[in-house]
Amino acid sequence: MTDTTLDEFRIEATTFLEANAAPKPAAAEFAWGQGDDDVALFEEFTPAEEARLLAAAKGWLGQRAEADLHWITGPTELGGRGLSRAHEQLYRSLEGGYDVANQSFFGIGFGMVAPTILAHGTAETHAYLSRMFSGELVGCQLFSEPGAGSDLAGLQTKAERDGDEWIVTGQKVWTSGAHYSDIGEIICRTDPDMPKHKGLTGFVVDMHAPGVEVRPLRQMTGGTAFNEVFFNEVRVPDHHRLGDVNMGWSVALTTLMNERASIGGGGGGGGLGLASATRLIEMMRHFGVSEDPVLRDELARLYTGYQVAKFTNMRAAAKMKAGGLPGPELSIGKLALTANLTATAEFVAKVLGPRVQADTGEWGTWAWSMFICGTPGMRIAGGSDETLRNIVSERVLGLPKEPGIDSKSPFKDLAKN
Ligand SMILES: Cc1cc2nc3c(=O)[nH]c(=O)nc-3n(C[C@H](O)[C@H](O)[C@H](O)COP(=O)(O)OP(=O)(O)OC[C@H]3O[C@@H](n4cnc5c(N)ncnc54)[C@H](O)[C@@H]3O)c2cc1C
Repeated sequence: MTDTTLDEFRIEATTFLEANAAPKPAAAEFAWGQGDDDVALFEEFTPAEEARLLAAAKGWLGQRAEADLHWITGPTELGGRGLSRAHEQLYRSLEGGYDVANQSFFGIGFGMVAPTILAHGTAETHAYLSRMFSGELVGCQLFSEPGAGSDLAGLQTKAERDGDEWIVTGQKVWTSGAHYSDIGEIICRTDPDMPKHKGLTGFVVDMHAPGVEVRPLRQMTGGTAFNEVFFNEVRVPDHHRLGDVNMGWSVALTTLMNERASIGGGGGGGGLGLASATRLIEMMRHFGVSEDPVLRDELARLYTGYQVAKFTNMRAAAKMKAGGLPGPELSIGKLALTANLTATAEFVAKVLGPRVQADTGEWGTWAWSMFICGTPGMRIAGGSDETLRNIVSERVLGLPKEPGIDSKSPFKDLAKN
């Protein structure tokens, strides 16, 4: 780790931001009917908008790379800056005060794929890391399949060894951002004679390689943020393998723990975020229900839920800062987030009633349909509520394992979805 102090780093980062970005105007106090009423949980862009925003994000990350501010916690020998998480957090909070490009396209790559490559990669795949953080390469997560989502270890995309290469054949699904990704982290079955969790191997795959076909999927909110991805005898070099052969389950767990950290531990889990308490209170006032005792009670419960989630996330963050591994706290954090979002959606639907079902043009009404339609997706992405409850019940509460999981028979002999 290099020895730049936090104070020195603050000056360096502020100088860079001042020179390259405009400060955000001070947030105006929320007033009903004014400004943008967008509260969507998932961003939805037209292809042209998406291309423009992605190019802007790449440009901004490129500027950060020129100033050596792109991969703050990365090891120096891999092109990172070698600074601490505290430096990274400081930079993020400073950048938050400036009007910079939307970097959400890089969320999966930075939050999930990169930490996994760092933990399990080879010299060849480690070389991707600095290029990812400088915006050159976008990464996606190729885990789920039509018959393997919650039961991820039931996946059937196969990788067969052919000399120094592997040949990958199969289908993945729900792959967010595959259509603009350059590399993907894929988990494949490499030995069907082993039990289901044992015969898996992880790889980094080139999304532009011959045999990779990406087809968009339309979600109920109207956009096409995720895809089906078909692999037809795609050749992957052995040096793109993540971890040992048949040890892909621990590679997958590294990614999933980081996924829960980046979803549940983010701002959405800790604060009311888009659905700020002020926004909800003003909505109640505007529609004349601010004295309704039942709704007031629900609002108070909602606020408490977000506060409790914030403290749970702070406990998990403290554990990780102290060098501990992300653990079941992150599953609790993600569960708390989705419970709070769902309760928010139900609360808003009660306040707005039928106004949320038809686009009448009235400010702050129909816009909530994008939030309400987005909450089920949040309950599924990154581990469904039921899967996370199973984890918490087994790993936190010490309850018996779910019956029916066959961890001994060869995968090829198991019934498939
Ligand atoms: C917005 C979004 C983005 C996504 N992005 C990606 C991505 O980038 N890459 C990727 O690989 N995947 C992605 N996914 C897929 C996601 O990981 C899966 O949808 C998820 O793991 C659930 O799998 P499934 O859809 O096959 O549902 P299933 O596993 O078939 O589950 C169906 C229902 O049964 C319940 N269920 C299943 N097993 C149990 C059990 N043992 N006990 C109790 N209930 C159970 C589930 O909770 C769920 O309600 C994304 C999903 C969403 C919604």
